[in-house]
Formats: sequence, C-alpha cells, structure tokens
Amino acid sequence: MKTIFSVLALALCLAQLSMAQVDPRWKPNDPDRPLPPVIEPATASTQDAPGQPPSDAVVLFGGKDISQWAGEDGQAAKWKVADGYMEVVLHSGYIHTRQPFGDCQLHVEFAEPVPPVGESQDRGNSGVFLMGLYEVQVLDSYQNKTYADGQASAVYGQFPPQVNASRPPGQWQTYDIIFHRPRFDKDGKVLSPARETVLHNGVLVQDNVELSGPTAHHDRPPYKPTPDKLPLSLQDHGNPVRFRNIWIRELGEGQ
Ligand code: MG
Repeated sequence: MKTIFSVLALALCLAQLSMAQVDPRWKPNDPDRPLPPVIEPATASTQDAPGQPPSDAVVLFGGKDISQWAGEDGQAAKWKVADGYMEVVLHSGYIHTRQPFGDCQLHVEFAEPVPPVGESQDRGNSGVFLMGLYEVQVLDSYQNKTYADGQASAVYGQFPPQVNASRPPGQWQTYDIIFHRPRFDKDGKVLSPARETVLHNGVLVQDNVELSGPTAHHDRPPYKPTPDKLPLSLQDHGNPVRFRNIWIRELGEGQ
C-alpha cells in the first residue's frame, strides 16, 4: 500500500512538473486574477528582411552584433558577420551564448548554402543545441536524402520530424522551439526528461517529445545531472550555413 502511495505521489509530482494545471486559487472568470504583462508581439520575417522580435525577448543575434556569442575557447566568436547574417566559418568551432538558458522559447532563422554542396549529412549541416546538449538538427534537407532522425528539424538521433518542411537552399527558414529542461532530484535521478516542441517554417514537426538524454551520433547516452541553465550553442559542421534573427524568451517554472 505504502509503495502504491509513493508511486502515486511521484506520478502526481511528475504530472505537476510536466504540464500547467488550472490554478485553484482563482474562480472561473475571476476579475481579481492578475492580468498577464502586455508586450509587443513579434512581426513576421520575409525572405528580404527579418521580422522584429517580441519586446520581451533577449536578442541573441539581431544582424550585426555577435557579442552575445563566444567560441569554444571562451573568446569572441569567429563566425563571419555580413549583411544582417552570421555564417559558420570552417574549423572555427561551435559558438555558444555567453548567457545560460533553461526552459525557453527560441526563434532561429537559417539559410542553407547555394549552390548545395555534398550529400546526406554533408549538405548544409549545423545544429541548434539547447543547453549545449540537445541538438535540433540544421541540414539542407531539400531534395537531399539522409537518415530520418538526422534530417532538418530532427531531434538528432532520437526523433525524426513529423514532416519535411524544408525550403530550398538560399531561402530563409525558421525554427520556433519550446524547450523544457530535464529535472533531477537531489540525488541526480531524472524526475522528468527534457521536452521539446519544434515548428519548422511554421509547421509543427516535434510535438512535446521527451528526449532520452543528450543527443549524440550513433549513441543515446543517458542523462547526467546538469545545472538548471547552460549556454545555447550552434554547430560548426564545416558547412557555411547562415543564421539571422535569433531571439529567446526564458520561461518561468511551470509554464
Ligand atoms: Mg548537425
């Protein structure tokens, strides 16, 4: 009996962690319930120009200033910045944000190299690594076959996207990612895994998927306890992929 109760308690605890629930402090349509903050919403990007981030976002790259990012050595990022974008420079290494993030909404735009060069994983490969550990694959998946869990907008090695919503190389594409970090108990055991929702060019491709652990090549390593926040990173996979209009909104606990 005791075991059943502790299992139930754990299940309830997990349920609370994994989804927002109706707050019992407020009656339906309660006029005393605090109103959400008012913000300026984002404006849509076009192929010619990036949109405006929402007013409450942290702008990680607005087109000119790469100072929010550092290279693997902690020094200034060595990626090329030109005409409103930044571009992977071969062998310059991954770049990561100077600020760490946990639960977040992240917007990233990228464009694949023209003309396309290489096949499969060698065509326009980069990646968006939440907490530096969980990769949403960036790849030129327009008429370029590769393994399902390695194509554009895959959670690498774990979840293929529901559809391939890729645009042709050279066109700007968007990822909108909602990420919830894993939770660990005081002994480092996983209370709830990382969860991720991804829209690729406005199309839902990952629907609240539960990650098995950090993403890896030919491997599914288990979770190891991590800090609540870690830097976000972008991959240098040797292909000159471009990025623009990167912004992030930190989410409060339970959102
Ligand atoms: Mg990659």
